[in-house]
Amino acid sequence: MAAGAQLIDFTAEPPERRGIDVDWIHGSASAKRNTDPDIQVYAYDEHTLILRQNMAVDYEAPFMYLMFGNTRAVLIDTGATASAEFFPLRRVVDEAVERWLRTHPRDGYPLLVLHTHAHGDHIAGDAQFADRPDTVVVNADLSSAWTFFGFARDPGRVARVDLGGRVLECLASPGHHETAVTFYDPGTGFLLTGDTVYPGRLYVDDWAAFSGTIDRLIAFAATRPVTHVLGCHIEMTDRPGVDYPVRTTHQPDEPPLQMTVDQLRDIRRAIDDIGDRPGRHAFPDFVICRRTG
Ligand SMILES: [Zn+2]
Repeated sequence: MAAGAQLIDFTAEPPERRGIDVDWIHGSASAKRNTDPDIQVYAYDEHTLILRQNMAVDYEAPFMYLMFGNTRAVLIDTGATASAEFFPLRRVVDEAVERWLRTHPRDGYPLLVLHTHAHGDHIAGDAQFADRPDTVVVNADLSSAWTFFGFARDPGRVARVDLGGRVLECLASPGHHETAVTFYDPGTGFLLTGDTVYPGRLYVDDWAAFSGTIDRLIAFAATRPVTHVLGCHIEMTDRPGVDYPVRTTHQPDEPPLQMTVDQLRDIRRAIDDIGDRPGRHAFPDFVICRRTG
């Protein structure tokens, strides 16, 4: 850290629930005439950025999270597109880091790249960071991620990732995918649930694991101040129980990205409701798609 650099105290106060007052880019009627930025950057606070990929570039339009600590930053997920031309994630992250360092100067400031899970729409931009100085990209595959978090030897542990005074707590959250991780940030009170929980289609690969994960997230949230439950997509419309069809590239009537711990309990009830019936089950704020046993 530079001499005289101010140490930020991220956890002096419990996190306050700030509004997430933003019009997310949501595609356009004509993808060719889309004038949205390739990546939208929303500052929840000066140390916490939420990024969204342009829906005209990839209909998944995933959200990514960039968080700054005293000694390093973390990027959670790298989007759905590899090409830096169509999806300049590296440039956007570099600019954000430079901007942050202008106000909070430090000598040397590494970047850690982690993932909510290994699906292609969350890891496609990884290669853009391969030659970035002072950067560690933890591959999202089960072996790499589970070794990094220590879940290989103890899947029930709470892994801690220290950004310098801002220690993320990380939980293995299988169900949607075997590599799924949920992150809790004590600085903002965010619970980052990847594709396990978001306002859209919750695809479940492993039903028992998903059920256990939702129980665990509810229990975890009872022991921490959670301000917002934030996933990586929006697929619902603002009409209860109605989602946009897969591959939609214009979603003018999206509900907010942020969800609540109460909605985790709604998912718990939905799981019980569904029981052993496979297939698609719509609920007001989400759709559960039970793929297998
Ligand atoms: Zn996804």
